[in-house]
Amino acid sequence: MNAADYPFTREAAEEVRKAGYTIEDLLGRRAFLPVRRRAAVRLLGALAEGIPPEYSHSQVELFSYPFARVMVSCLGDDHLIRRYALAEAKLAGRRMAKEGDLLDLARDLGLTPSRAGDLIRLHFSQYLPAASRMHSSKWKLVNRSLKGGFLSVTSGELLRLMEELARDRVQKGLPLPVSPEICAGIEELLHPIRLELQSTLSRDRADLGAVQEGAFPPCIRAMLDQVAAGVNLAHTARFALTSFLLQIGMSVEGVMAVFNTSPDFDCERTRYQVEHIAGSSGTRYKPPSCATMATYGNCPGEDDLCRRVTHPLSYYRKKGRSKINPSPSPSQAEGGPPPRPP
Ligand code: SF4
Repeated sequence: MNAADYPFTREAAEEVRKAGYTIEDLLGRRAFLPVRRRAAVRLLGALAEGIPPEYSHSQVELFSYPFARVMVSCLGDDHLIRRYALAEAKLAGRRMAKEGDLLDLARDLGLTPSRAGDLIRLHFSQYLPAASRMHSSKWKLVNRSLKGGFLSVTSGELLRLMEELARDRVQKGLPLPVSPEICAGIEELLHPIRLELQSTLSRDRADLGAVQEGAFPPCIRAMLDQVAAGVNLAHTARFALTSFLLQIGMSVEGVMAVFNTSPDFDCERTRYQVEHIAGSSGTRYKPPSCATMATYGNCPGEDDLCRRVTHPLSYYRKKGRSKINPSPSPSQAEGGPPPRPP
């Protein structure tokens, strides 16, 4: 394992510690200019298509990670922190996919896997913290055969679990307590990232603003809060949220942007599923009724208006000006069988 490829690991932190440079060194010395630039690239990548994997030198890659943590802490925005942690985890995942053996890295992340032929054995207590956030049924413990507390995963599944643990590791401790003097000293580097962050946030707000966010029922608001916090919604909740947003007039692109903070966001898969719910196969799906939402545990509790409606769309219509898509075509279906949402 090359520590520079996985700068969030304990091994990488130890290498940085042994080198003995201070944050002031990284901040002020001309020799560390490539480190500061690479750190900025990490953050800008997190707000765009991801962190580019290429780097000029191992030392640059290694030191740019703690410097990026300082920068993200100066900016102090929760949205950026979540996107940054996700981007580092995705970068690590792309690199892991090229590794022959992931066991050393897995151990660094707190797993103690062992080989069992082509599969990898893992104790369920190590499996659950990461797997419980995945929404696909294959990750559910009931769908795994358990022997003496151990279960088997493929190397691809181990990689996915490690990606999730890497995301936790990166996000842990952020924002760091960085002094205002240090933040002021790197303002030149922070400025373009702040601009990009503002543009990303206002783009997202514009998407929601067009559909009267203030009229959203409590169930939809709760789901949006969870997605923004990087929580993986259950299948039924993701279907309800996707179909609701499409029905009130949000575009496929807008809905995809909402899910872009999900830990397992997959652009192509999400597009296919959102388009399917939007009616690409001839059936446009409506969100479930309040009764169905309650059955699946997706109704967080009623407010006064909730007591007078039986459907989240009725809540939205009553509370705000109606923006419901009136078109009956393609044919509309409520309830099931819903396709798997993003
Ligand atoms: S009662 Fe209906 S509209 Fe209100 S929170 Fe529950 S599911 Fe949503």
